[in-house]
Amino acid sequence: MKKKQNKQQNALLKGTLTNPSTHIWKSRISWRITIVVFLTILTVQAAILNITLKEFEYDKLSILRQLGRTAIVTSIDPTVRDLLTTPIQENNVNRLLSTTLVNGLAIYSNQLDLIKTYGEPMVLRILNHEGLSKTYRSTDGSSYEVVFRNTDLSRPYVMVARLDSSKVQKQVFNYVKQTILIMLLMSAFVTTVLMIALGHWLLEPILFMRNNLLAASKNPEEPQIEPSPFDPSDEIGGAIELAQKLITQNADNIMRIKSTAEDKIHKLAYYDTLTNLPNRTLFIQTLSENIRKSGTEKTDRFAIITIDLDHFKDINDSMGHSVGDAILRGVGKRLRLSMPKSALVSRTGEDEFAITVPLSDEFDNARDVGEKVLNVIRSKPFKVFNEEFQVRASVGIATFPDDAIDPDQVLKNADIALNRAKEEGRDTIKEYSEDFDRAVQERFQMLRDLRDALENDELSLHFQPQLNLKSGEIIGAEALLRWWKPDNSKEGGVFISPVEFIPVAEQSGLIVPIGEWVMRTACRNAVEWRDKYGYKGRIAINVSGVQFNQSDIVSITKKIIEDTGIEARKVELEVTESIFMDDINHTIQILKELHALGLELAIDDFGTGYSSLSYLRQFPIDRLKIDQSFIRNALNNSDDAAIACTIIRLGHSLSLKVIAEGVETVDHEKFLIEENCDEVQGFRYSRPVPTEQFVEFINSYNGKISSFDS
Ligand code: C2E
Ligand code: MG
Ligand code: MG
Repeated sequence: MKKKQNKQQNALLKGTLTNPSTHIWKSRISWRITIVVFLTILTVQAAILNITLKEFEYDKLSILRQLGRTAIVTSIDPTVRDLLTTPIQENNVNRLLSTTLVNGLAIYSNQLDLIKTYGEPMVLRILNHEGLSKTYRSTDGSSYEVVFRNTDLSRPYVMVARLDSSKVQKQVFNYVKQTILIMLLMSAFVTTVLMIALGHWLLEPILFMRNNLLAASKNPEEPQIEPSPFDPSDEIGGAIELAQKLITQNADNIMRIKSTAEDKIHKLAYYDTLTNLPNRTLFIQTLSENIRKSGTEKTDRFAIITIDLDHFKDINDSMGHSVGDAILRGVGKRLRLSMPKSALVSRTGEDEFAITVPLSDEFDNARDVGEKVLNVIRSKPFKVFNEEFQVRASVGIATFPDDAIDPDQVLKNADIALNRAKEEGRDTIKEYSEDFDRAVQERFQMLRDLRDALENDELSLHFQPQLNLKSGEIIGAEALLRWWKPDNSKEGGVFISPVEFIPVAEQSGLIVPIGEWVMRTACRNAVEWRDKYGYKGRIAINVSGVQFNQSDIVSITKKIIEDTGIEARKVELEVTESIFMDDINHTIQILKELHALGLELAIDDFGTGYSSLSYLRQFPIDRLKIDQSFIRNALNNSDDAAIACTIIRLGHSLSLKVIAEGVETVDHEKFLIEENCDEVQGFRYSRPVPTEQFVEFINSYNGKISSFDS
């Protein structure tokens, strides 16, 4: 339907544009006007004809009458005095009837007595005086009978003459014919002139206006309208001017609306609504553009800086999103203000920013940019709702073209450097190095191998005893994961340290099935020791924060306890302080649920991580495990000794047990006994050993700490 309409419009447009005058003859309105005018002229002329025709006929008949009278008067014999005889002699009558237009004659006396008739018989008879004013015309118009009174004849007679009026008839006919011809010619002429005038003054401007309207309806944004050649002071010219104005206004409006909408869409697609900074898409586009132009512009080196706010999630979770948003806005503003105009500062992720800046006068190396970024973020706290928030960030740096020439790759390298910075404790800057790439590749390989290891039973557990420092009895064993990776060496393989593969397993999520396997195996071993050797101690199992977030640790633990038949209170889960960095309320909730199962909870490597002492009271934990680094250095570093002592006291003040790990020597042991530590674990007593050796250990252990030599 629409197509058809368009087609019609196109045809119209084409036709009217090519030759508007041809349309005069096709224009219905012109025809209507013309026909009306034509008929009006005809009617008026017919009316005029009707009036003039009678006059014309009357005039002609009058002339005819006059001629008849003259002929009769000249035929009258003036000598005849007898009023009762005919005054025309016979021979004159014959001449009168044969040579003049008089075809018949009736002669009456003054008293209206018929004296004599000649020639053709009369229709008109005079019987009284009224009859004197009568005339008669034959229906075919060929005869005309008139009355001549005595005054007309200057004789005392009344005569009725039958005149030959066929000539008058002919003249009338010719007159009508001529008049009609003139009428038609005139009408045709007037119509033509009118049509031309209409075409020129009315149709052409209307068609011109219609063309413009059609063009506007076809392409309202950019209507192809020509300037109007018509005088704007007349009605149609004025209407055209107005229509054109409206068309242009409409086009302007559409363009304005469109460009506002486009701006909005552009803004949404390329800008971050929170900080108003360019987003990742625009960042990559601009970076690509800068790189493409790098050969031609005066700067051909760029720094690419990626920034991640440290523990931003914590602020967001604990203080609410409005605080988080305000900090992000603040960081964005500080970054923008600290960078030169030539830099592009963008927000590329939730708490991630990226900057690209040409390396020229202001900065001649990327590290300077990174340091500036780190400084502006940590120089002073961010003030939000009258509270101050100290924000720190990790920064990754890459340089184009030194580190990569592809925009995506150079950004990726900056991200790799950023990850390094995060791994190395955050709040620091890392410049990209090729070694990082190698490390990433190795991690990928390790991940693939670890997957195979899980399937091929290459994982096993070693156990390290934990002892009560006061009674000397074995109170537990920590299960430590071992990966025996077969190779072509003469040993047939190597043990891979959990320190190496646990982070890879955590990043990939593989820690979830591995962790479940560890828990199940450890509990099964502990039940076996209990059943076979009367083992009364607990089993301590390391649990990663990822297991808290990515699995239903509570129901998994519950199921394992039920399946293996271990007493819940004989199970201890060791968690590190890192789990408190995520959603703290969620963590507390899970810890409470785990505790409710009846098992014990310990904070591993205590003192090395982020600890919120105010929260510590709320955690349902049973034990603090002093990190081995403090014990190792306690004897030669007073700070570490002080920390170890503080942790012991802190634990006791919160009614928690304190266990020291990494106890290697008698001196370590003595230090801990002096400081009233509750429990110990370390090489001084046993290295982590496979289950058989652990069984040997418990069977041969005499219950006295001092009986073991270092
Ligand atoms: P951790 O939980 O703090 O484990 C104690 C680490 O200290 C063990 O290292 C153990 O062998 C070592 N150790 C014990 N006594 C001494 C000592 O006297 N001197 C020294 N120098 N070291 C001692 P390992 O087995 O290499 O485990 C390293 C870390 O790997 C563990 O630290 C734990 O964080 C993680 N890990 C081990 N097994 C698992 C597991 O099943 N799941 C999870 N998520 N992490 C595990
Ligand atoms: Mg542990
Ligand atoms: Mg530890």
